Amino acid sequence: MQKTAEVVIVGGGVAGCSVAYHLAKRGCKNVVLLERSELTSGSTWHAAGNTHVLQDNANLSKLHYYTVRLYPQLEEETGQSCGIHPVGGIYLASTPERHDQIRIQASKAKYLGLDFQTISLEDVHEMNPLLNLDGIISAMFEHNELHIDPSGVTNAYAAGARMNGVKIHRNTPVTATTQQPNGGWLVETPEGRIETKYLVNCAGLWGREVGKLAGINLPLMPMEHQYFVSESIPEIEALGREIPLIHDNDGEYYMRQEGKGLLVGAYELGGLHWAVDGTPLDFGHELLPNDLDRVLDNVVRAMDRMPCLETAGIKRIVNGPMIWTPDLMPLVGEVSQLTNYFVIGGLIPGFSIGGGLGLMMAEWILDGQPSLDIWPIDVARFGDWVTHDYVLDTTADNYQTRFRLFFPYEERTAGRPLRTRPAYEHQKDNGAMFGAQFGWEVPMWFAPEGMPPVENFSFRRTESFGPVGDECRTIRSSVGLLDTSAYAKFIVKGPRAAEWLDGLTTNTLPRHRRMSLAPMVHLRGGVVADFTVARLEDDEFLLIGAGVAENAHLRWFRKNGFSSGVDVTSMSVDWVGMSISGPNSRALLSDLTGEDFSN
Ligand SMILES: Cc1cc2nc3c(=O)[nH]c(=O)nc-3n(C[C@H](O)[C@H](O)[C@H](O)COP(=O)(O)OP(=O)(O)OC[C@H]3O[C@@H](n4cnc5c(N)ncnc54)[C@H](O)[C@@H]3O)c2cc1C
Repeated sequence: MQKTAEVVIVGGGVAGCSVAYHLAKRGCKNVVLLERSELTSGSTWHAAGNTHVLQDNANLSKLHYYTVRLYPQLEEETGQSCGIHPVGGIYLASTPERHDQIRIQASKAKYLGLDFQTISLEDVHEMNPLLNLDGIISAMFEHNELHIDPSGVTNAYAAGARMNGVKIHRNTPVTATTQQPNGGWLVETPEGRIETKYLVNCAGLWGREVGKLAGINLPLMPMEHQYFVSESIPEIEALGREIPLIHDNDGEYYMRQEGKGLLVGAYELGGLHWAVDGTPLDFGHELLPNDLDRVLDNVVRAMDRMPCLETAGIKRIVNGPMIWTPDLMPLVGEVSQLTNYFVIGGLIPGFSIGGGLGLMMAEWILDGQPSLDIWPIDVARFGDWVTHDYVLDTTADNYQTRFRLFFPYEERTAGRPLRTRPAYEHQKDNGAMFGAQFGWEVPMWFAPEGMPPVENFSFRRTESFGPVGDECRTIRSSVGLLDTSAYAKFIVKGPRAAEWLDGLTTNTLPRHRRMSLAPMVHLRGGVVADFTVARLEDDEFLLIGAGVAENAHLRWFRKNGFSSGVDVTSMSVDWVGMSISGPNSRALLSDLTGEDFSN
């Protein structure tokens, strides 16, 4: 085995192989992929191979589309079959809310230039005459959806990577990773050591264990997940063609044709965690004991929709572990606390988005940042505030609501409250409706006296509309108090502080005892942070930015070297904050303090 590499990737599942492929395609030759066992030895080999491409977030949709469109190209380049079935996907709406959601998605698709269209129920019947359409209000068709062979896809990425110079070592577990003084990594295996500049943790089910080798706790938790494949069904055989994927999300199941039968998977209520304290190192090509009774309710809903399933025998049941994050989205990108350490973890739709993530990771490593804003999946959105219990509560909740419809601004409640400020109880007593930001409970709006502090989220106006309007008008015309405690706060000081900040932010730094707004921008000019900068002393500054992005700020600080002559300290936990705003704020402060606040 070679002694040095530019990039070492840990893990040969779909994520690791996609990263290897994309790095190699970008011309990064000295890439090594280390796989503990055989390729696909984690969740990858037993996946159902479905895709569902249109997402609420436009950039994530782009990554999903990129992925499904890559498969034919991958086959052509490598000669390795991906087992593509380009059948498209039917989305069914059986509630007015779901109807709204897919209409919104259709508009978004138009703006993204994608093919996601309303179809009539007659069209649905034509595409799949075996569907029971009772209770269905509307339907959409997504032309690009397909299902694939998970091993075929992973091996195709691996083949493409090898063709472009990547060295793949199977049966080579990574046993230690140590950050080097030069910012690189020393990677140890039973076959020898490799010095590398960049390290990428794509260890999937073992993402936690590989993270711990570098001293980090990744918020990940495996859950059991089951699907089954039926025996051949005469009605399907008689169709003589393959039916599209069926997305009946209100039923919390997924269904597609497999051979001449059906494949049905379920996200049941009360799903089970697996290997809570750590994934066994000797687990690999096994499955977990199956228990279809657990998913019976979901399966009954699937049978109602496809009555031909009712009498079908079961050919194969798969119960395999997949690893989840506290918010259902994967952990992707450069880890803030370390240098040159990247991760793709907690990947649920690996075959829908795996190609796009490989592309983003290659760009991040080689260009210093990805070409798309992928904040919803950025690993920096979590911090060391995440507790074991929080991960357990949130992953259990995410699992059983995998396909539930979540509305804009809807706040999940699992695992909360986790971090509260001293004013929390007082705010609660005064009708505050809270949201969670970087683990902190933050008042979003206050229900006025006589109004219950409840918000029924919707695509339409909710209870918050009136009170939020009143709050805005009060501040516009008079004065109001905003809790800014959840903002990120940094003290930057030292002889080089002004010079360093000047290079990092776009605005001129404020004079002594003055404040200004100063966006911190990345390489292409996009905003990393929109800071309020206060100059406390000539060589000391207070920076206030978005609380959720604290780790992203720190990552950018680290990348832009604050080594000698600059000291950065986060005060986000230690300090609370209040903002008094509006034309009467000076008068209020004068009343409260007896001081003169006029200009
Ligand atoms: C039952 C089931 C059905 C699913 N169905 C679908 C589906 O229809 N569509 C879809 O998109 N997704 C599906 N998934 C999810 C999909 O399987 C995952 O998104 C995907 O496989 C994750 O891939 P990965 O590469 O991140 O992790 P993994 O597949 O877990 O791969 C990690 C790899 O890292 C290796 N490794 C670990 N530790 C080390 C170490 N120390 N040194 C070297 N190597 C190491 C492991 O051996 C393994 O090969 C399903 C999952 C399950 C369980």
